[in-house]
Amino acid sequence: MLDVVIVGGGISGLYAAYLLQKKGLNVQVIEAASRLGGRLHTTYTPEGHPIDLGGQWIGPQHTRLLNWINAYKIPVHRTYTDGANLLITNRKRRRYHGTIPKLSWAALLDLGWGLAKLKKMAQNVSPIRPWEIYQPAWDEITLAEWMRRTFTTTQAYEAFAIGLSTVLGCEPAEVSLWHALFYIRSAGSLEALIEAEGGAQELKFSYGAATLIESIAQQVPWITHERVYSILWQADKVSLRTTNKTYNARTALFAIPPAAMKTIEFSPPLPPVYAQLPQRMPMGTVTKVIAIFDRPFWREEGLSGHVLRLEGALRVTFDTSPEDGSYGQITGFGVGKVARGLLHRSPEERQAYYAGEIRQIFGRNPRWLYHKTWADDPLIGGCYAGFFPPGGWGYFGESLRQPIPPLYWCGTERAVTWMGYIEGAMAAAETAVKLLTEA
Ligand SMILES: Cc1cc2nc3c(=O)[nH]c(=O)nc-3n(C[C@H](O)[C@H](O)[C@H](O)COP(=O)(O)OP(=O)(O)OC[C@H]3O[C@@H](n4cnc5c(N)ncnc54)[C@H](O)[C@@H]3O)c2cc1C
Repeated sequence: MLDVVIVGGGISGLYAAYLLQKKGLNVQVIEAASRLGGRLHTTYTPEGHPIDLGGQWIGPQHTRLLNWINAYKIPVHRTYTDGANLLITNRKRRRYHGTIPKLSWAALLDLGWGLAKLKKMAQNVSPIRPWEIYQPAWDEITLAEWMRRTFTTTQAYEAFAIGLSTVLGCEPAEVSLWHALFYIRSAGSLEALIEAEGGAQELKFSYGAATLIESIAQQVPWITHERVYSILWQADKVSLRTTNKTYNARTALFAIPPAAMKTIEFSPPLPPVYAQLPQRMPMGTVTKVIAIFDRPFWREEGLSGHVLRLEGALRVTFDTSPEDGSYGQITGFGVGKVARGLLHRSPEERQAYYAGEIRQIFGRNPRWLYHKTWADDPLIGGCYAGFFPPGGWGYFGESLRQPIPPLYWCGTERAVTWMGYIEGAMAAAETAVKLLTEA
């Protein structure tokens, strides 16, 4: 009999398998998809250039991830940030430097005041027990409601909305204010979330995030094409049924997003708060767009490739070219109302739309254009992560983290630190392994 059967072959499940195995336990990772990696998904252009459709950046605060990268000598390089950023509004372009775009003086003051207030409020969240809500009203309203009460200028409201929806992966009208505050606190600061230099976008995998997944996968037992459908469990053993087989183990570790848990039948059923959690923690909705050019030509015009747009579907872009600049790569994110409207269109129509926007912003057609709307992914269902709408943390937060032995959970949504990120997925794996081995 196995000691631990791990459901989900993303970074969290694989890293948990590695840690458990190091403690001498007999483990098996079961992945439903045809590939490992989950939200880390590298594909390649016909020339072999890596394209990360999922996670790709690493921040200096991502200590677990950086330790692993250093130990296994996984190539990474700094994100290109030299030159001026662009703010595009009403089709007009304005260059700016630093994080805050060149808005009107009134909007800048408004934005500065709102950001300072948000940062101060985030200090009141305990990332360890965020369900203990210091200000219940903050979990009862959406982030959008708070923004309407806070900002007096449209420009400040819109710039803030783009920034926060790009960071959170959901719209301000969907997410509770408390969740936004928790997200900031879990990363340490707002700057850590939004900055390239010194923040979560500082480094990127030179040959794709697949290099990280491969370095762990070669050390642990895993199987793909096996979806877990049901589990029979009692105090000291579990029996999981998959597409092809039954796996018997002493414990089960679920390394899948909470929303994906609803596809698995539990016998006996989970307690009601756990059973409802998947309904209360939906996945975010972001489209990632990657354009490949023959060279990073924007650098010749003194531009960084970082664009903020107060219009259209593609609202934010970054230069993600290789270290030697041998070709140009722009990564963008589709967020906001126009991007949401595109979800009613086919993937081909979306591709054509984003190609048009890239042409509009950069003035030429890319050699290749890739996009992935993660809501299309049948096993993960969205990105970057699950989030709580109003009331979620207060009523369902504790069930996100608390195991019911022999059932344990990990995955980035369960993390105390860097929830939503690779670092969070690794941190949650570490915590689950500790709870499981100390039980
Ligand atoms: C577009 C995008 C950009 C991102 N950018 C960054 C970034 O730059 N930096 C960063 O740190 N993070 C980033 N992230 C977030 C990061 O990728 C995730 O936080 C992390 O990969 C989550 O890992 P996980 O193991 O928790 O979950 P997942 O990767 O979702 O793994 C869960 C696995 O479980 C499998 N599964 C689901 N149901 C079943 C079942 N019933 N049976 C068996 N298997 C099942 C799924 O197929 C999946 O492989 C990004 C994510 C996306 C999508």
